[in-house]
Amino acid sequence: ILSLKHIKKTFGEHQVLKDISFDINKGEIATIIGPSGGGKSTTLRCINLLEEPTAGEVDFHGENVLAPNYNRNIYRAKVGMVFQQFDLFENKNVLANCMVGQELVLKRSKDEARKIALANLKKVGMEQYVNARPSQLSGGQQQRVAIARAICMDPEILLFDEPTSALDPEMVGEVLSVMKNLATTGLTMIIVTHEMAFAKEISDQMFFISDGVITEQGKPDQLFNHPQNEKTAKFLSNFQ
Ligand code: ATP
Ligand code: MG
Repeated sequence: ILSLKHIKKTFGEHQVLKDISFDINKGEIATIIGPSGGGKSTTLRCINLLEEPTAGEVDFHGENVLAPNYNRNIYRAKVGMVFQQFDLFENKNVLANCMVGQELVLKRSKDEARKIALANLKKVGMEQYVNARPSQLSGGQQQRVAIARAICMDPEILLFDEPTSALDPEMVGEVLSVMKNLATTGLTMIIVTHEMAFAKEISDQMFFISDGVITEQGKPDQLFNHPQNEKTAKFLSNFQ
């Protein structure tokens, strides 16, 4: 469904991504791990075109989305993202947060958008909070609403950038459990996380990104138990 081919990203003089390539199949769960500043977020942002790669290809269903004649709006609507800081609309209640994108981008009617929003809020256990404002909710609840909002858009790929790292520890579990449920629905997910036990359990593929390159990739067992690269081995040994 998605292939990155030799993605490079430079900010001024600073080459943040040096050569990132990987393939994700439909329905796969991929996690990206690695040290701070290594380029994990930049990789996600190059996938959904929040950043323009300096070089390389992002292929979606075999077509390069960076090509000049490619319809980026359609692509962007198919790739959702959940951020560390939830990023809900504070002036809207929970239900409206989940409806607005459906109406504006997908042109769904209010009735249809409401129905879909309620169904997805139920999936994340937030249906009883439809009238609440984001500020009235805990961090874990806000993040569950952000996930519901993202899936209301029927994404083919959902990106997560450290979805639990802004949460108090007691709220991490409820968000990870919502993500585990989502993972069983056939949705393709790419997740940047520091939750190693979760990554180990959920991942079909893992990528270790450090210094703008993938230094290790494979199934969780391979990364955790048979790392090839000394840097990866050292990083991962902190989590065993
Ligand atoms: P963390 O675990 O801390 O979130 P990360 O792996 O997500 O780290 P990135 O956010 O991708 O790392 O950043 C990689 C490098 O790129 C960092 O050195 C960062 O300062 C730099 N960088 C990221 N965005 C920009 C930008 N818009 N302009 C300049 N430099 C940037
Ligand atoms: Mg980051």
